[in-house]
Amino acid sequence: MRTKRAVTVAAVAALSFAMAACGGDDDSADGIVGKAESQEKLVIGVKADQPGLGLQTGTEYEGFDIEIGKIIAKGLGVDESNIEWKTTVSSNREPFIQQGTVDLVVATYTINDERKEKVNFAGPYFVAGQDLLVQADSTITGPNQLDGKKVCSVTGSTPAKRIQTDYPNAELQQFDSYSKCLPELEKGQVDAVTTDDIILAGYAAQDQWTGKFKVVGSTFSDEPYGIGLKKDDTTGCEKVNEILTEAASDGSYQAAWDKTLGKSGTAAPELDTTKLTHCGSV
Ligand code: GLU
Repeated sequence: MRTKRAVTVAAVAALSFAMAACGGDDDSADGIVGKAESQEKLVIGVKADQPGLGLQTGTEYEGFDIEIGKIIAKGLGVDESNIEWKTTVSSNREPFIQQGTVDLVVATYTINDERKEKVNFAGPYFVAGQDLLVQADSTITGPNQLDGKKVCSVTGSTPAKRIQTDYPNAELQQFDSYSKCLPELEKGQVDAVTTDDIILAGYAAQDQWTGKFKVVGSTFSDEPYGIGLKKDDTTGCEKVNEILTEAASDGSYQAAWDKTLGKSGTAAPELDTTKLTHCGSV
């Protein structure tokens, strides 16, 4: 009797373990695919102060990341009017995804191994590179000239981290968003602002800064922009990569570019679908 009960308990334990393992694999119910299907809405984290990429004016958001967000929502069957845009800054993207404050992040978000420990990434849909923004008459031509210079960047960003690790003699000042660095650069309180070239170009082109700043133009990193989502949402990640693949061939990726960053005359980059992530699996 005793033995039989012990065997039953063991069997039940094994069964529930197997079910738990199954539940772990079946991520579609609480992932973005399931949410889009059942609730027909999505919360997308974006930047609010990066012209051309993610810029908020009043209650409206516009930019390339916003257009990418709309493409993904559409591919998931969610109407544009049912997207809730939520402002993120560089340092709260992983926690916002982990805590479910947002379903997706499309916010100049570099895919890297450290972040992959906390979140999953679809993409990349664009590859930027770290660069410097300096005053128009500055003689700084690259990161090797930053010794003893004041450099402004953002907490939780890859460019700030790279300055700390690769250029430790630069004096790094960090804010929570890049737009806060610009008045400092104008006043000469800092010698350079550093982040991705495409972000810096957007600032340099803003009316209020015309003629004042220049992007140095020699990038010193690769910043592949991904779409962040919950670490265990493999199904969602694969779906987003499918949507991106579709967007590359049906013209919507190009249209997203032309409507935003492409307005300056630069042709749309190629969305290289052979480089899309494997969503956490090797
Ligand atoms: N792409 C870099 C990053 O994800 C810099 C831009 C940003 O902070 O959003 O950290």
